[in-house]
Amino acid sequence: MARRDWYCEDVLSGKLEVKKIWEDERVLAFHHPHPQAEIHVVVIPKAHVPSLLDPMALDGKLLSSMMQAVQQVAHKLGLDRTGFYVRANAAAPDVTPHMHWHIVGLSSHDLDSSLQN
Ligand SMILES: [Zn+2]
Repeated sequence: MARRDWYCEDVLSGKLEVKKIWEDERVLAFHHPHPQAEIHVVVIPKAHVPSLLDPMALDGKLLSSMMQAVQQVAHKLGLDRTGFYVRANAAAPDVTPHMHWHIVGLSSHDLDSSLQN
């Protein structure tokens, strides 16, 4: 069963209060309300873009804002010193149907294992 679009319905509507880190007119970056790591941030377009595979995801201004959000989050949260990864999952039935990138800070354990690859 397709997941509910909680980014539009809860976050962008203002129903769910989130801790914003950075935003511009196209993009919002906020702490994930149920973090999977010590630092877990989500970057979403403010307009509804269903997934990475949608033609709207190719918009150059949107992509530039998404990347700027990643850089701003990295600088503001110190991830530029400790390391992080960006994950964009799409197309699976259990993925929220609104384009989103997860920014996850590396723990010291993750950092050790990533250095071996
Ligand atoms: Zn949406």
